[in-house]
Amino acid sequence: MRVGVPKEIKNNEYRVGLTPAAVAELTRAGHEVVVQSGAGLGVDFVDAAYEAAGARILPDAASVFETAEMIVKVKEPQAGEVAMLRPDHVLFTYLHLAADKPQTEGLMASGATAIAYETVTANDGSLPLLKPMSEVAGRMSVQCGAHYLEKHQGGRGVLLGGVPGVEPGKVVILGGGVAGVNAAQMAVGLRADVTIFDISNRRLAELDAQFGNQIRTAFSSTAAIAEAVAGADLVIGAVLVPGAAAPKLVTREMIASMRPGAVVVDIAIDQGGCFETSHATTHEDPVFTVDGVIHYCVANMPGAVARTSTIALGNATLPFVMKLANMGAEAAMAADPHLAEGLNVSGGKLHVAAVAEALGLPL
Ligand code: NAD
Repeated sequence: MRVGVPKEIKNNEYRVGLTPAAVAELTRAGHEVVVQSGAGLGVDFVDAAYEAAGARILPDAASVFETAEMIVKVKEPQAGEVAMLRPDHVLFTYLHLAADKPQTEGLMASGATAIAYETVTANDGSLPLLKPMSEVAGRMSVQCGAHYLEKHQGGRGVLLGGVPGVEPGKVVILGGGVAGVNAAQMAVGLRADVTIFDISNRRLAELDAQFGNQIRTAFSSTAAIAEAVAGADLVIGAVLVPGAAAPKLVTREMIASMRPGAVVVDIAIDQGGCFETSHATTHEDPVFTVDGVIHYCVANMPGAVARTSTIALGNATLPFVMKLANMGAEAAMAADPHLAEGLNVSGGKLHVAAVAEALGLPL
């Protein structure tokens, strides 16, 4: 199959759909790969690295779309990209259609087969192509929190790990899923004092077994959260209720009870956030302060570490890319029901009930 990798054109997007290592796997399996010149430059994958992996470099997106049968990207296609899609194209990327009617209608009009990373599933019902980004955001949250706790950033002037003779900082993590566990691993690694809240008793038992006496686990009740938040240096919001807005676990009063210069990092901001005082921010202007508490609420945290995120995403997508290239989309999805869950649009039809319902479009 001819596989194409255009340069991402969404504002501030530096990631790229395939790494040179992934390209090498494809070309070794006999596929042809075309890459737009400069597609990987933002994450230091130069054209020569793609060429060494067997790709052909093309000057612009139009020639990549024209040449390729399958387009592998990161972000949802922008209007100009949708316009270049043909009925024989397979598009494999994040789509997030439920909040994007123009894109959905554009994909339907193109006739292309659009498979979304975010709806591909795994055996346990989890979402393997979203997981790497939650891992990145979880690990980053502690790094960001530690940074903003520094005095000259407006923080309390607390070192999360403490030092001999001085107690460590208190980190409270709301939600012990993928992002929460990764945040906990970093906080434990820094020797902070860590408490994780979750609503699932099964999850709490798993966390207890995984971390032993390195953390405290707590059931997510309003009273217990209020007490822990009041004494915390850093609170990380990492809850998820699938398909719903994040529950507002931390009220404005709880924020007001925190000490000046404490920090909250709301990873769940992409689902509306779990702090009543949160609103989405950007990497250009990541924080704001409410009642003396610094809020970091960047909705696309992984973008800040685009190189790590590109490689992590590539590790997760490569097995599916290989399957699609080796078998063709139809046969690959027939053989793998988890990949088939990724099918959002094909032949002008929408295939995801939740998207159809959210946008008022027919299935
Ligand atoms: P996950 O499903 O793995 O974990 C969520 C956890 O929250 C689960 O363990 C669940 O039991 C728990 N939970 C649900 N309701 C709760 C409550 N009331 N109290 C306490 N815990 C509760 O999800 P995840 O992959 O870790 O993702 C977490 C959030 O991070 C999601 O909203 C995701 O979209 C977001 N995210 C944001 C970024 C970013 O850049 N800001 C990046 C990646 C992921």
